[in-house]
Amino acid sequence: MRLTKAFWQTYKEVPADAEIPSHQLMLRAGLIHKSGSGLYNYLPMGLRSIRKVENIIREELNKIGCNEITMTVVTPGELWQETGRWDKMGGLMLRFKDKKESDLCISPTNEEAVTDIFRKTVKSYKQLPVGFYQINTKFRDEIRPRFGLMRGREFTMKDAYTFHMDKASLDVGYQEMYDAYTAIFTRLGLEFIPVEADGGAMASADSKTHEFQVVANAGEDLIIYSQEAKYAANSEKAQTIRAKTEYDFQISPLTEVSTPNKTTIEEVCSFLNKPHYTSLKSLVYVATTGNVSKNVLALLLGDDSLNEIKLQAYLKCDHLIAATEDQIKASKLWKGYIGPVGITEDITIVFDKSINLEASYIIGGNKKDSHMSGFNPKRDMKNTNQADLRLAKAGDLTLDGKYTVVEKRGIEVGHVFQLGDKYTKDMKVGILDQNGKLVTPLMGCYGIGVTRVVAAAIEQNHDENGIVWPKALAPYQVYFATIVKSEEFVKIADEIYKEMSDANLEVIYDDRNVGPGNKFKDSDLLGLPFRVVMGERDYAASGDLEVIDRKSGSVTKVKKEELVSTLKNLLK
Ligand code: ATP
Ligand code: MG
Repeated sequence: MRLTKAFWQTYKEVPADAEIPSHQLMLRAGLIHKSGSGLYNYLPMGLRSIRKVENIIREELNKIGCNEITMTVVTPGELWQETGRWDKMGGLMLRFKDKKESDLCISPTNEEAVTDIFRKTVKSYKQLPVGFYQINTKFRDEIRPRFGLMRGREFTMKDAYTFHMDKASLDVGYQEMYDAYTAIFTRLGLEFIPVEADGGAMASADSKTHEFQVVANAGEDLIIYSQEAKYAANSEKAQTIRAKTEYDFQISPLTEVSTPNKTTIEEVCSFLNKPHYTSLKSLVYVATTGNVSKNVLALLLGDDSLNEIKLQAYLKCDHLIAATEDQIKASKLWKGYIGPVGITEDITIVFDKSINLEASYIIGGNKKDSHMSGFNPKRDMKNTNQADLRLAKAGDLTLDGKYTVVEKRGIEVGHVFQLGDKYTKDMKVGILDQNGKLVTPLMGCYGIGVTRVVAAAIEQNHDENGIVWPKALAPYQVYFATIVKSEEFVKIADEIYKEMSDANLEVIYDDRNVGPGNKFKDSDLLGLPFRVVMGERDYAASGDLEVIDRKSGSVTKVKKEELVSTLKNLLK
């Protein structure tokens, strides 16, 4: 593509709302254009990268015999009513009515739609297992759209679904997809980790789920990781044990201490000159099941955090939400000074398992500016229910106690999930088995955030001058920058461009009438794997062209005749 014919602009400035490098660079390098909050137009350069991701996904999924289809972006509300998700999806789903007053939505995901196709077309066990995928637009009215394509409201997703007669077949299909994902992200040249994820309240105990996480500082997810133990899990899912804690076993009476304006663990402990783990963190939640709500007080060691998923699983409730300030007040508690002693009996109290019930702790005094020291759970409480509530963190040990785990930040680019019979049961799908008996098939679902992959790749691969594309994703392979004035050399440059194009190299030909400084800046910003420079003076003197590796900066001098083969070798 000749730049004089291309639609491409670069920018020096970034808008204030672009907080992370990938978002800034995608705007500055002219890959995307913002049309509204969480809404982005894909410009030619950006679209080429997106297409490359799509094609790699397509090739790998076709290889495992998955069938490409395209489902409608708009889906009828009736389908979502069948599974109860019309209500459960909440504000994430964009709903509207057509002129006949029928409910519709813009698909945030497509389990219902694909199950509807399946139940109307597949009848016999002989047609199973079968898998479908599509690469399509999704819309989710995210609470916090941010970071450009990383968390957009409208985005491109690859979503795949498989149907199976039994769990053994689902396990095989799941593993095939897991392997295809590994192949896809490897081909894309990304540093990624498949991590054990949480299946949510719906998932049965034996249903597997993994997230594919791209390691990057700007990642919103926390991964608990041990290379030695080959263990990686989303922090919400991670099973670890707390490293050894020195408890305070000095028994003393429960004593009120004045702590004016000290409301956090940090403030109280530094005021009393005590380590954080000698205090207890008191968190109030509202647990709802059906239309019954009750208040819950969760207690953790002062330096631990609550894993809400574990608390919800322990309480077996439908919803769990942190109590608001008003709800806390209504329970006769003081925010910043909450503790387990002397509170009303209708609050359920749960101690985290890492709390040693025989030790002493500092707790909130349940009135303003007041805490208590010498709290001994065993002595001072009637009930001391304990459960595993804490969030895994760096410094914890793997379950066998052998290895220390670290934390890494990750961007979830893919997700594989064994759904079981959730959708097929709700949507009354029946398949005749070998004996002519109707069986409810099992499902797996598998997503990749296509547009998020592009953002994640840039987040992981950039420097102070711009993007450093992994080869497989770069919009073009070569940036051909010429510094030539006379007609004779322009003609040679045109020839070189033609030779590269004819050899199927993807080349941007910077034939603009601007100085070398501009060309090199734009070339670095766009970050194609290789830049070829033809300077009139050098070329006239030696016949040399320069090939510059964007990643390493290394320069190779080549003659015109060797250029194509050199590039082909470098791009392997
Ligand atoms: P997240 O936890 O990041 O909100 P999710 O778990 O809700 O994502 P899934 O339902 O698993 O997302 O969707 C499949 C894939 O789609 C995700 O792994 C992610 O790569 C991508 N994705 C999800 N939401 C967005 C979004 N708002 N913008 C871009 N990509 C997204
Ligand atoms: Mg997910």
